[in-house]
Amino acid sequence: AAYANWSQTPVSVRAHYLHAIADAMEQQFDKLVGLSVLNNGKPIEEAKIDVGDAIACYRYYANLITDQETWSEVPTNEAGIRLLKTFAPVGVCALIVPWNFPMVTTSWKLAPALAAGCTVVLKPSEVTLLPELMLGNILSSIDLPKGVVNILPGAAEVGAAMTSHPLIDKVSFTGSNVVGEKVMTQAAKSIKDISLELGGKSAIVVRADADIDYACDLIIGGVFTNAGQICSATSRLLVHEDIAPTLFEALKVKTATLQVGDGFDTGTQMGPMVSEQQLKQVKKYCDIATAEHLTCLTGGEISARQGYFAVPTVYIDVPVTSQLWLEEVFGPVLVSKTFKDDAEAIRLANDSKYALAATIVSTDETMSLQIGAGHVWINEQQIVLPESGWGGFKQSGIGRELGGGGLSAYQKSKHVLLSD
Ligand code: NAD
Repeated sequence: AAYANWSQTPVSVRAHYLHAIADAMEQQFDKLVGLSVLNNGKPIEEAKIDVGDAIACYRYYANLITDQETWSEVPTNEAGIRLLKTFAPVGVCALIVPWNFPMVTTSWKLAPALAAGCTVVLKPSEVTLLPELMLGNILSSIDLPKGVVNILPGAAEVGAAMTSHPLIDKVSFTGSNVVGEKVMTQAAKSIKDISLELGGKSAIVVRADADIDYACDLIIGGVFTNAGQICSATSRLLVHEDIAPTLFEALKVKTATLQVGDGFDTGTQMGPMVSEQQLKQVKKYCDIATAEHLTCLTGGEISARQGYFAVPTVYIDVPVTSQLWLEEVFGPVLVSKTFKDDAEAIRLANDSKYALAATIVSTDETMSLQIGAGHVWINEQQIVLPESGWGGFKQSGIGRELGGGGLSAYQKSKHVLLSD
């Protein structure tokens, strides 16, 4: 019901509301950070980055929609006519998000959807409900018109109802491939527009010219941040054989001394897993590694202490047929291999059904062209800017979030032809 008005609301008003969300989030920054740590378990410094990223995303789309031309003239050779182009909102959207980056994944969908003039039904993850419920309070506090954003808590059956509902025009889903397939099938029945951000098994390639110490920091950040519960975790390590023994030695020491603990403790570098189920998932893969006789450099078990604590784990010389090489663990488990030359590194990096992201540690930037992934970091890890595009190739998903592509995902181009 709210769509009729909101879709016709002037861009300046929509941008005003997006800035108001960002302002309110800034005012409630500490509380949002606290809820994220409490609900997800992540270290407080990571939660601060998350809330900052979400705020930046609302501001980015406020500015992007303000700068978008409402009407543009399309050049044509046809005499006596004018062709004009504009954008219309895609309609009422179902936004479904996972638990690993509460508020961030939501902002990547909600900000461009509102900017474009869409109304939404948002389903937060049932595992991390608190931050999005507080976002609901924020939306009420800024007097966003009723019905523009509807936050609907629930689990699979609620998501399924949303994705098959005849009045939903678009589904934007972030989550696992198993559920992504279901979402696609449900949405197909009424030909809904669809965006899918799914899983990954991303590679980090360390070439022979890399600084070992810096490379270790990137490897650790790439796979142990958020306890490895990142879609773009660089969980497959490829190391040039000339530097492998030195690098593995340094990596073993740095990994084994990571501070695992309570997210509110400022010394904590890795928090607990988000849930008992996710801890069991890590244990399952450690057991598979034992059954496959993988060589464990460090870790290889879950913690005996109370709480959902896993142990940062690295396996070396992992065969490409191993389940750990092929499947997304979504936990702090790194598998690695050595390579002889760039051709082998590129082949191994691309040898996955996923293709979300990759990191290259080297002074040579050319390899990025040959890595088939939606986002490649060179001598950096896991930084995602609002101006960037986010999304994978292959089975990592369909469509792009963030950047201009993230706005297009909620708009349809519309042409008007006039007789002169
Ligand atoms: P999940 O697929 O179990 O759940 C995601 C969301 O879908 C939840 O809100 C859940 O309630 C809902 N859902 C469950 N069944 C549904 C159904 N039948 N229909 C509609 N919705 C349903 O994923 P998760 O465990 O919450 O998150 C982890 C997964 O998310 C990982 O595979 C990870 O790679 C992926 N992920 C991808 C990205 C990306 O940008 N590509 C980002 C974050 C997470």
